[in-house]
Amino acid sequence: MATAKFETPALKPYPVIPLVAEGAMAHLKPFVASAAIQQNIGFPGELTEGWEQRALARMGELLGKYRSLRVYMDACVHCGACSDKCHYFLGTGDPKNMPVARQDLMRGVYRRYFTFAGKHFPKLVGATDLTREVFDDWYRYYHQCSECRRCSVFCPYGIDTAEVTMAAREIMDAAGLGQKYSNEIIGKVHRIGNNLGIPGPALEDTLLGLEEDTKDETGVDVRFPLDVQGAEVLLVTPSADFFSEPHVESLIGHAKVFHAAGVSWTLSAKASEAGNFGMFIGNYEQLRKIALRIREAALELGVKRIVVGECGHAWRVAYSFWNTLVGIGAGGKDPFAIELQNQLDGRYKQPMHICEFTHDLIQRGALKFDKEKNDGRIVTFHDSCNVARASRMGDLPGGQFTIPRDIIRAVANNFHDMAPGTIHEATFCCGGGGGLLTDDLLELRVKGALPRMEALKNVVDEHGVNFMATICAICKAQFSKVLPAYGFDMGMVGGVHQLVSKAIRLES
Ligand code: SF4
Ligand code: SF4
Repeated sequence: MATAKFETPALKPYPVIPLVAEGAMAHLKPFVASAAIQQNIGFPGELTEGWEQRALARMGELLGKYRSLRVYMDACVHCGACSDKCHYFLGTGDPKNMPVARQDLMRGVYRRYFTFAGKHFPKLVGATDLTREVFDDWYRYYHQCSECRRCSVFCPYGIDTAEVTMAAREIMDAAGLGQKYSNEIIGKVHRIGNNLGIPGPALEDTLLGLEEDTKDETGVDVRFPLDVQGAEVLLVTPSADFFSEPHVESLIGHAKVFHAAGVSWTLSAKASEAGNFGMFIGNYEQLRKIALRIREAALELGVKRIVVGECGHAWRVAYSFWNTLVGIGAGGKDPFAIELQNQLDGRYKQPMHICEFTHDLIQRGALKFDKEKNDGRIVTFHDSCNVARASRMGDLPGGQFTIPRDIIRAVANNFHDMAPGTIHEATFCCGGGGGLLTDDLLELRVKGALPRMEALKNVVDEHGVNFMATICAICKAQFSKVLPAYGFDMGMVGGVHQLVSKAIRLES
């Protein structure tokens, strides 16, 4: 199963819809969370007696709470417009990886228990009993969706398979069937403060090490401050930025930007993680609980601004959920949310993406660059799904596409976009998002990366591209792993602020 050998799909010069390969990915599912992992975050430990009732009760609750879910269940006309839009279908040929088929796994159960026709004439309307076999299929195929929302862009009814996947995962967790990777990480965030489980003292050491390295590189005392009371900006960044390559290069870039702009800033040991896997499992209580750490840190440190680093789903959570969940930005109504809204500086977007922050400084001429320092790089940009299709940046529509590209053009001389239809709102997922960045799903990750790898190959061949910039920690980790499978150098992926870091001019 998870360790089975598989072949990397061949790269083709143009996208080809694969032949349908029934059951091609039926052998693959992620490791199931242990009872301890489940119970640690408040879910039943396993699928014990009565799991069907627990699952249906949760499903009924979600259908009652989220009108959208009921609409998605009812509105699909099976037109097929979404069927060839998912990178996991394109990479595997498994028909259950067609978005409509993925939705139908839930739709059959919905019809059976929540519609008149399905209750009385199940065979006539494609209604399905909730059996263990059906639930196992849910577990497989709702963990072969990265919640990227590409299919929803092409659906004439705007049906969002990502929302269906999130609901399915929430229902499975409520019944006692959870995914080890995501749920273990959520437990770690609560216990230690970040996904990687880095304790405060280790973080402090790492940041001191980065100060020394940056001094060696530039001769300038660039600070990487931690828990500084009264700093202007709290930077919340994915914990991979502290240790992993190429992520750390962008963190160095963030520090240099703050230094060059003369803005006081700090990281927080308590909120040392921008990522929020509560979204991946579709659980709003976890989503809120994880986000609350950031509010607490902001209140304790007395900061005036909250800036989010290069992390795709973290930005989606920050942009789309923080306001009403925890009151960062207008929305939250509890006393702490109101206190924070009064504390934060209303002249700025709250929260703000680091790209908005840097872009604004560039627009105002507050940063100087030696662009030729990036001349060894011929750059392309991978739009990360959660930024592209689930958030915005800046004041203009499409700012999430133009702002990172403007920054790249300001710091590098050679930039080439990949083909239309593979970028902006139609971007292809890296293949590892949505809680799938785990080695037990490596086959899916490699195969799901196929459409992006094909688009990359085209600009490599046409323009000699040798660097793919992105603003997502998961994309960086996923590409580092799968690029070699397609014959590319793993070092050709990096952050936008990695390019900024190289070119920025610093003064002591
Ligand atoms: S949300 Fe993305 S991964 Fe999920 S079915 Fe749609 S295209 Fe596929
Ligand atoms: S495009 Fe929309 S309506 Fe058509 S099959 Fe897909 S989900 Fe259903």
